[in-house]
Amino acid sequence: MMGSGGAIVMDEDNCMVDVAKFYMTFICDESCGKCSPCRIGTKRCLDILTKICDGKGEPQDLEDLKELSNVIRNNSLCALGQTATNPILSTIKAFPEEYEAHVKDHKCPAHVCKNMMEYFILPNKCIGCGLCMRNCPVGAIAPGTEPAHLPNGNVNPGKFAHVIDPKKCVKCGSCLSGCRIGAITKR
Ligand code: SF4
Ligand code: SF4
Ligand code: SF4
Repeated sequence: MMGSGGAIVMDEDNCMVDVAKFYMTFICDESCGKCSPCRIGTKRCLDILTKICDGKGEPQDLEDLKELSNVIRNNSLCALGQTATNPILSTIKAFPEEYEAHVKDHKCPAHVCKNMMEYFILPNKCIGCGLCMRNCPVGAIAPGTEPAHLPNGNVNPGKFAHVIDPKKCVKCGSCLSGCRIGAITKR
């Protein structure tokens, strides 16, 4: 129960941790602040979810989230607080593997949580056109040392497969959407 008479359809491209974070952001905005379980507890839940989505989560965070969610549910004054943590408890219950991937492997299986994502150029697909390098807003892409290949498999003379410097990349995604031959992926 997320609070209204609507239904939202999601698929494997939705991250359930990110979904819980979205709802908790909404709840924090809506909380009137009269009682502390809802006023403070929901903000602490949001802090934990943000930490997990930022790739800094640890297994204990899941236990803390469950305990805190139940405290908020059982001690808030009105229905908003009493139902506020449903998205957390239900996503942990129904999609435990997604939470575990975040806190144990620091991976987001749906590739939604930006800080856990890495953009990567496939050297055997890159034709070395340089489009991504020209469009990268932070200069994170440059020609590498491996020869670029044409789509027919032949070496593209004088061109090199490009590479992304993960330290510079701000994960804007423009290279992925801009590469016309699909040589860029995220993982
Ligand atoms: S549970 Fe209700 S009364 Fe308490 S802070 Fe939240 S909205 Fe206000
Ligand atoms: S990754 Fe794509 S856009 Fe970038 S140089 Fe290679 S082929 Fe061109
Ligand atoms: S995701 Fe954005 S910042 Fe990162 S390499 Fe691609 S264009 Fe540059």
